[in-house]
Amino acid sequence: MAADIFSEEQRSYVMSRVGSKNTKPELIVRSFLHGLGFRFRIHEQKLPGCPDIVLPKHRCVVFVNGCFWHRHKDCRRASMPLTRVDFWQTKFDGNIARDEKNQRLLKKNKWKVCLVWECEIDKESRRAEKLLELANEIIQPLDI
Ligand SMILES: [Zn+2]
Repeated sequence: MAADIFSEEQRSYVMSRVGSKNTKPELIVRSFLHGLGFRFRIHEQKLPGCPDIVLPKHRCVVFVNGCFWHRHKDCRRASMPLTRVDFWQTKFDGNIARDEKNQRLLKKNKWKVCLVWECEIDKESRRAEKLLELANEIIQPLDI
């Protein structure tokens, strides 16, 4: 067996990076929007937070968030690991602050920001409702 050269933190960090692109929930949202004929770009690095889905025509961005990493409020998937609580807390606080800052910047630049949480579309029973809600949100004019 190969020696484990990574610490637990490093390993978790790498895993989070690996898992951050083209995750399944994101693909669900993308294929749904594509099916409805929406045109979009993905992982737009020029925009704050590199939004998962960008719909220029509607001046709308969509983030498909993992509940654990992005700390979905009151979601059981956003549990606190039992060990190294300080490490995780710092990491989570950083994630939350970064998300808030990016969303603030986007809104300031007149982008509409939509959030989809993985738990909202995981279960097929809730998926259709949530996705239709999202489609509606996307086509709503931005009220400022
Ligand atoms: Zn959640």
